[in-house]
Amino acid sequence: MIWYPEKWRRRWILGRESIPESIWRSVVDQLPFLRGLTRDEFRLLREWSTIFLYNKKINGVQGLVVTEAMRAMIAVQACLLILKLDPEYYDNWVEVIVYPGKFVLDHTYTDETGVVHTRRVVASGESWQAGPVILSWEDVVDIRCESGYNVVIHEFAHKLDMLNGSADGYPPLHGDMDRRIWAAVFSRAYEIFCRQVEQGEVTAMNPYAAEDPAEFFAVSSEVFFTRPCLIKQHFPDMYQQLARFYCQDPAARWIAGA
Ligand SMILES: [Zn+2]
Repeated sequence: MIWYPEKWRRRWILGRESIPESIWRSVVDQLPFLRGLTRDEFRLLREWSTIFLYNKKINGVQGLVVTEAMRAMIAVQACLLILKLDPEYYDNWVEVIVYPGKFVLDHTYTDETGVVHTRRVVASGESWQAGPVILSWEDVVDIRCESGYNVVIHEFAHKLDMLNGSADGYPPLHGDMDRRIWAAVFSRAYEIFCRQVEQGEVTAMNPYAAEDPAEFFAVSSEVFFTRPCLIKQHFPDMYQQLARFYCQDPAARWIAGA
């Protein structure tokens, strides 16, 4: 339930800010996985994206100039995840940092003997708990529906996952969902997927999903939105859980929009 002042604030934002029609059209045209959305869903997506852009700072680094079109490209994809949820799912942080391309991060971790190590990794995206989302622009525009790759959906799925603690593949479920069913379905799918990767089989999702349960949830969310029929075919129980969590059935609209 949205409390009244927040409703009023959103109406105020929507009355003063809007994504220009030419930019909105251009972004929608570049995102084939939006096909099948109804007119009302497109309107809602545009409203959530407008609120997102008002609430967040999107800053380029390493000389990258972030244009209105680039801001909209990020906002629309981020808001697809919360289309049937609410913008408040992204409330506890403010900044998106955009690099021109892949960037280097130093990850520190403690091994089982208590020794702290630093590992240098090249990344296309990163999400920090209650902190920024970091994106590589060259990856944001690398829309490859055939592989299910989508860095914006991936990083914002991590954001949803982290709403109830560190990223672990277990986002805050709705009251009518059963956490035991979620855990059982995802554990089984993860186990099958890791075995497929180990055996060198062709997998329905990026093998990176085998990294850990958090990456499995983020990658499965990418595929859920961009190649929904694939995930429904290979992991039907997981598809149902994702459909209930996101309150969306992208496979149905994909077929309807074909
Ligand atoms: Zn990830």
